[in-house]
Amino acid sequence: MEEASSLISFLSDKSVVSLFALDTPEECAEILLDPLGETKEQLIACASKLSVLRKRDEELLNALALNLNLGGVIFLSPTFAQLKRKNVIEIRLLGEVGEVFCKKCGHSFPIVPFEEVCPYCGLPLLPKIQPLPGDMGKRVERAVRTAMSSDALLVLGNPEKLLPGALIPWVSKLFGGVELAVVSRDDVAIKSIADLVINKDPLEIFGSIEEKRS
Ligand SMILES: [Zn+2]
Repeated sequence: MEEASSLISFLSDKSVVSLFALDTPEECAEILLDPLGETKEQLIACASKLSVLRKRDEELLNALALNLNLGGVIFLSPTFAQLKRKNVIEIRLLGEVGEVFCKKCGHSFPIVPFEEVCPYCGLPLLPKIQPLPGDMGKRVERAVRTAMSSDALLVLGNPEKLLPGALIPWVSKLFGGVELAVVSRDDVAIKSIADLVINKDPLEIFGSIEEKRS
């Protein structure tokens, strides 16, 4: 695919940090807006969806790490995906994911294999995607510093509604002089200041890169 090649060649000689802002699953939308007002059914639906999408998101992240000089990933939208590579910083602005927990007894469990209820209490397990207000300031500061220390910031998806991380591309580009590449089919405002824009779904772009290699 032409867009994939132009993206890779644009980023080829640069250190890259990626801003992960893929579409939020419909099942998780309510929870993100109001983490404490959710119903059990919504929580289970959200966690199930995230566990299904985990593989897809990990494939995308691995394609990034294989093809780019990737120094970090800043997660703005919820995912259970983990990259876990040496030298790649992973920052999650939504809080801890990769685990589910029981509100009653406090036990945490890994996402895989996915359990719906706490084996101790029988209550539905909750995905750990709630914001962590206590250390949010520090997380955002670390994310901004990480983005600004790279040559290029690669925005995947639509970060605009995902506050406070939505500000990172603006700050990095306008104050840090970081080059900005945006892959999104949405009409996002940061496209107006981007050095490279690809009007496609990131999964489409990086899916095609993997296909080419295999
Ligand atoms: Zn429990």
